[in-house]
Amino acid sequence: MTTAAPATLAREVREFLTEPHGMLIDGRPVTARGGRTMPVVDPATGEVIAEVPDGDERDVADAVASAWAAWRERRWTGLTPARRAELLWRLADLIDRDAALLAQIDTIDVGTPIGQTPVNPAAAARTLRYYAGWCTKIFGTVNPVGDGLLGYTDRDPVGVVVGIGAWNSPLVIAASKTGPALAAGNTVVLKPAEQAPLSTLWFAKLAVEAGIPPGVVNVVNGVGSVLGPALVEHPRTALVTFTGSVPVGQDIHRRANAGLKEVVLELGGKSPFLVFADADVATAAASTVRQMRSNAAQVCFTGSRVLVHRSVAAAFLEEASRLLAGTRVGAGISPDTDLGPVVSQRQQERVTGYVDGALSEGAETVFSGSTPDGPGYFVPPTLLTSVTNDMTVMREEVFGPVIGVMEFDDEAEAVELANATPYGLAAGVWTRDVARAHRVARELRAGTVWVNTYGVLDRSAPSGGYGLSGLGREHGEAWLNHFTEYKSVYVDLTGTT
Ligand code: NAD
Repeated sequence: MTTAAPATLAREVREFLTEPHGMLIDGRPVTARGGRTMPVVDPATGEVIAEVPDGDERDVADAVASAWAAWRERRWTGLTPARRAELLWRLADLIDRDAALLAQIDTIDVGTPIGQTPVNPAAAARTLRYYAGWCTKIFGTVNPVGDGLLGYTDRDPVGVVVGIGAWNSPLVIAASKTGPALAAGNTVVLKPAEQAPLSTLWFAKLAVEAGIPPGVVNVVNGVGSVLGPALVEHPRTALVTFTGSVPVGQDIHRRANAGLKEVVLELGGKSPFLVFADADVATAAASTVRQMRSNAAQVCFTGSRVLVHRSVAAAFLEEASRLLAGTRVGAGISPDTDLGPVVSQRQQERVTGYVDGALSEGAETVFSGSTPDGPGYFVPPTLLTSVTNDMTVMREEVFGPVIGVMEFDDEAEAVELANATPYGLAAGVWTRDVARAHRVARELRAGTVWVNTYGVLDRSAPSGGYGLSGLGREHGEAWLNHFTEYKSVYVDLTGTT
């Protein structure tokens, strides 16, 4: 096929777009059993840039059978932990090798500006290396069970792990789900989001090139409401790791629960961003603008509820508006672009619907930018005031460059407003008062709190959410613990029982 991909793409990416894409099952690229494909659209143009397999339950059955066989036949656990670490490290090296290409792929698939997408392969490689280090460090225990017995507890891989991901950061999500699963000795079936599957398909090719044995990493592609339930309910999948929206997370939880299957859910947020009177207001405003530009604020932990002390609210809004006025909105592939399109027409309509709804509920626009003429799913960056926690735009996750700003009078009110949400993914605190910083961080109901910075994530620290923001934690040792069963063994040492 020919594609409508931008001419500035690397030759390798252009070739990749036009080649027939397979899902990865048992180490081989395969077409969907039903023979169907689905289009991949560049959100900057609305044009089809690739066709990918559109699988169904039969493909899920094949992928799970492949992962199950690889696990039962010990194709992965049969390798020494040191060898497994080498292979994960090798996969990270290949991601580094292809980083510029993967950045371009995420740009044309998700819409993220090319100045921002290099962080994705870098984060994916870091995650794999972090978990490569764990391969040789997953220990059991010898238990104090008394003289006549030897008691020990082993850490057993759970088996076949499902990894279902959102579209906003597909490569990072693929690596985050694969790293700990493989480090703990499991096999995986990944399912990328239908809006942005391309970097996961490239990741699949790299897994093969790295020498990871067939069946250890599998990728299925297709419509989430078809493949997702089939993966979650399959009797041979043991753990479901999911990044995505709350309603789908709840559906997965219900289905997994029926099979008494463990789930880890990384869901949405409506994160508060508190700016106190003693804060560096200009830096805080710059952080908000950076978040609006970053992936068009299609980031789960975006600080989308700004709470600013009344005495500095005008200064905050003025500085944020000044920076937003300089925002260059356009196709992500242009190196000049600060703010790209959102991922799809549906998402564009959703985000603009939230703004219209907010205005009809009494919100006011302090800043609203412009978008390029012509095609593409662009949304103007928008700052809203006269908003309250009761308004839809402040209760629900917008997932677009729309930020509401509320004012508060004292610390207690700020904390109360911040916590008045069913979510609890992240929060930001801006203050020069050290005691206040720690006091407020302690009070906030959020899985991650940033003080005088925002969005920094290290693989060593668990991240995840309270309340509707999820279940369980990703990253760090906490994430790894989901991927093993504890098995306790008692051995009689007396020979008399
Ligand atoms: P989504 O829930 O619509 O889709 C996520 C994935 O689930 C996709 O792969 C989709 O195909 C699949 N899916 C759809 N229906 C399914 C079903 N019935 N069963 C199983 N899987 C199904 O989410 P999205 O729109 O792709 O992503 C945006 C959401 O993801 C936002 O809410 C965002 O906050 C969240 N997110 C969270 C994190 C985090 O770490 N907490 C990170 C990134 C994105």
